[in-house]
Amino acid sequence: MLEVKEISKNFGEFKAIDQLSFNVKIGDVMGFLGPNGAGKTTSMRVITGYLNSDHGSIKINNKDINVDPIYTKSTIGYLPEGVPLYLDFSPYLYLDYVCQVREIKNSKNAIKKVISDLQLEDVKDVPIETLSKGFKRRVGIAQALIHNPKLLILDEPTDGLDPLQKFEVRKLIKKLSKTKAIIISTHILDEVPEVCNKCLIINNGQKIFEGTPNQLKKKIGKTLDEKFRKLVS
Ligand code: ADP
Ligand code: MG
Repeated sequence: MLEVKEISKNFGEFKAIDQLSFNVKIGDVMGFLGPNGAGKTTSMRVITGYLNSDHGSIKINNKDINVDPIYTKSTIGYLPEGVPLYLDFSPYLYLDYVCQVREIKNSKNAIKKVISDLQLEDVKDVPIETLSKGFKRRVGIAQALIHNPKLLILDEPTDGLDPLQKFEVRKLIKKLSKTKAIIISTHILDEVPEVCNKCLIINNGQKIFEGTPNQLKKKIGKTLDEKFRKLVS
């Protein structure tokens, strides 16, 4: 589904991503971990086409993202870090706007479905600025899902949510994973065995671990020292 090959991204002299490679397929939920500043958000921006990479290639369904960007963007749902939303819009108007931008044909049905899936019925007509963090996050996830994308990229989807809201988002991710390839960035290690079947850890823009949650558990338990533990928690 998604093949990321040796991507690098520099900001001036600074290497934010350094030769990063990985793959995800339908059914995968990949936990993308690393400390603050590791390069998670930058990687997601490059994969979604929001930023250009300086080196390497990204393919979705064997198509390079730069060859047919409209196609690749139509296959990706993206929850950006910090969930930027139009605060004076209501969730309904905002989702309607997203449908127009994405040229979704049956927009009424698409909006109805995500409002129901994300349990936004009660707040769909109030200004987004009046909503709690948990509801704002749900609106952000709703816009990422509205075109039924096969690849879902969620930047810190549970960050700042209370335990119940975190539980709800994780439950939703599990449900969605049956028919999609999902990447979630997080700096919470506990989240990985809960929802992910794969795990990739980066530091200073470089891959430092790739494997299953079990392999990660073994590694932390046996060979890796306190420094690594600190790095990934
Ligand atoms: P993470 O999401 O893992 O916390 P980021 O991808 O946001 O990390 O940032 C990785 C590094 O790249 C950080 O040191 C950050 O300051 C730097 N960086 C990110 N975006 C820019 C930018 N637009 N210009 C310059 N430096 C940037
Ligand atoms: Mg980030």
